[in-house]
Amino acid sequence: MDFRSDTVTQPSEAMRQCMAQAKVGDDVYGDDPTVNDLEHWAAARHVFESALFVTSGTQANLLALMAHCDRGDEYLCGQQAHNYRYEAGGAAVLGSIQPQPIENNPDGSLDFDKLAAAVKPADFHFARTRLLSLENTINGKVLSLEYLQQARQFADRHQLRLHLDGARIYNAATALDIDIAELVAPFDSITICLSKGLGAPVGSLLLGDREYIEKARRIRKMLGGGMRQAGILAAAGKMALQDPIPQLRIDHKNAQYLASELNQIHGWSVNTQFVQTNIVFAKCPDELDGEALCAYLMDRGILVTPGNPMRFVTHNGITETAIDQMIAGIKQYQAM
Ligand SMILES: *Cc1c(COP(=O)(O)O)cnc(C)c1O
Repeated sequence: MDFRSDTVTQPSEAMRQCMAQAKVGDDVYGDDPTVNDLEHWAAARHVFESALFVTSGTQANLLALMAHCDRGDEYLCGQQAHNYRYEAGGAAVLGSIQPQPIENNPDGSLDFDKLAAAVKPADFHFARTRLLSLENTINGKVLSLEYLQQARQFADRHQLRLHLDGARIYNAATALDIDIAELVAPFDSITICLSKGLGAPVGSLLLGDREYIEKARRIRKMLGGGMRQAGILAAAGKMALQDPIPQLRIDHKNAQYLASELNQIHGWSVNTQFVQTNIVFAKCPDELDGEALCAYLMDRGILVTPGNPMRFVTHNGITETAIDQMIAGIKQYQAM
């Protein structure tokens, strides 16, 4: 019972079968039919010209930023953005691209007035502002289609490109009940993580226009991300994208259930307004020793990450019964 992340999902038996039977070739030569099939299929499904299968979400974001921006360029993003906070500063270190973070609003969005104030004038004192990068979902919160369309208008007004870190974009599409293609239409480029709630073991996608993806493909090689018989992984990736919504609906329902159960425990509180997908942040009692609670739960086969707020993530390995057991574990611990 692993509540730490939706990255811990195990490939199903059917997915392992599909991987075992995948036809493969050398993808650096463009010879892997299963990778080619995934890239063509994903491009068509999300209505982009081209797609690139890459090792991770971090690599997808790095390629995305480096293919949009040259040395000395700048991207606008949220202070909470994964591609600012949690990717080891890759865009700055490897791309010589300057991040310009803006404080996220409580709902995860970025204020357009604050963004406008951060766009640099064309003057050699400044980095060149090239790109706005958004994230959906962000900490489990969903940006609406209306907001994304406003972001498109903002980007056009300021002559910026628009990128989406869509690691969990399928969770957003599920929560909004909007077709994925419509939700990503405002963007010049998007990433999708196949190895989170979608359940594939490895891999992400980067999508954009043909020229952009060819540039990203060159940078992927430079960064050591050219893979050979990668069809074994791509087969799982395509399977993960076939029919993800039913499972994500269950994950979201379970997150709601988990939030309401946590709210019943003395001293714990979850702002359920922000439980919109599969991630729950819970404020713990101040006196709680988070490390000790985690150790107590681990002895009972339950994995959680300490922190206050404490983050719980639902996925296809988490059932209502698992939630009941975890809740019971917390109550027992607090009763000691
Ligand atoms: C997980 C995540 C990534 C990075 O994906 P990895 O495959 O772990 O490198 C990027 N962006 C967001 C929003 C994520 O949640």
